[in-house]
Amino acid sequence: MTDVILVINCGSSSIKAAAYAVEERPAPVWKGNITGIGSAPVYRALSGTAAGERMALATDMTTHRSLIHWMLERLGQEMPSLRVVAAGHRVVHGGRHFDAPALIDDTVLETIQGLSDLAPGHQPHNLSGIHAIAEAWPEIPQVACFDTAFHRTQPRVAQLFALPRHFADEGVLRYGFHGLSYEYIASVLPRHAGSQANGRFIVAHLGNGASLCAMQEGRSVATTMGFTALDGLMMGKRCGDLDPGVIMHLLRDRGMSVDEVYHLIRRESGLLGVSGISNDMRDLLESDDPRAQEAIELFVHRIVSQLGALVAQLGGLDGLVFTAGIGERSAPIRERIAARLAWLGVRLDPAANAEGASCISTTDSALPVFVIPTDEEGVIAAHTRTLACATPRAQRREREALACS
Ligand code: ADP
Repeated sequence: MTDVILVINCGSSSIKAAAYAVEERPAPVWKGNITGIGSAPVYRALSGTAAGERMALATDMTTHRSLIHWMLERLGQEMPSLRVVAAGHRVVHGGRHFDAPALIDDTVLETIQGLSDLAPGHQPHNLSGIHAIAEAWPEIPQVACFDTAFHRTQPRVAQLFALPRHFADEGVLRYGFHGLSYEYIASVLPRHAGSQANGRFIVAHLGNGASLCAMQEGRSVATTMGFTALDGLMMGKRCGDLDPGVIMHLLRDRGMSVDEVYHLIRRESGLLGVSGISNDMRDLLESDDPRAQEAIELFVHRIVSQLGALVAQLGGLDGLVFTAGIGERSAPIRERIAARLAWLGVRLDPAANAEGASCISTTDSALPVFVIPTDEEGVIAAHTRTLACATPRAQRREREALACS
């Protein structure tokens, strides 16, 4: 039997899961995910002999909780030699309460529950994951890893909205998200950038959700997402920065309901809304429809505009990192962004960029540009190992002693 940490990352319509050996090893021993929750759920095995297998699931399995239970059975069938001894969860919102991962107890659970209103599309699903594991293995420790925690180092002024100050006291602040991804990048940056990693870096996490983080000495000093993950850059389906007057216009003058507006800015905007074609950057890059081209132009425009603001906050820039789906895999988007950053002295090496090399800038570029694949699940596994399996060797020795007695 191999003791493993199970990592669960529940999104609004997906569940990503991975198992990592307790004994420190960076790569997962099992991986699987379920997508299409709420419409047509599909399971994909991503490791072992079943890797690549796709399985359509019964459409009446609509809750994250029931699907996690199904997935746990599946894990048992695919990998009967694994024994789950701890679980780690991605939890989107930690509010002001959490600036680090936390071992889950009743108080932590209550606090996470209390923050659900701040991330209604994600937090209830994160909680479902925690409850499902507690039902399956009530005795194992669970750890919550927060997407907001990495940004708690932002100076107060970067966290404030220009609203009457009692709102800030009540928690209406710019929190920022994608913190687990940024934490991973900060942890491996020295491998890529050497001692320069301590300088002023901007990391562009460009996936379905997208944001930028300005870091100094590996800590977040500013980010483009705010109170919710709707703020900042244009995303696959989310609008990003929007004049609050537009929301008022839609509600008051167009008679849209609150739910309709919320759906519009979360599910019908961004690349999908502007192109009218797709939220997937690959579809837009392949299309010669002018609407697709305009959506890409706006996506890049927003990135370079907000990146400029972050450079000003950092007082200069020593390096740039691209990560997540688009950042890691789309050479044309990286090229278009870099071309608009020529004023900073950024120069890309076309061949290195085309192959997605680790460093894609030329030797005479004023600053290095890196492509670093992110690993949010690996970060969760590492925190869970530290908080819930602090002394794996001692535990193993204890088990061996018990087995011998
Ligand atoms: P999530 O935010 O859901 O974790 P990812 O980081 O996996 O998303 O990014 C998914 C997005 O990345 C896709 O929707 C697609 O737009 C984009 N993407 C993936 N591969 C490519 C590629 N080769 N070229 C351009 N875009 C890509």
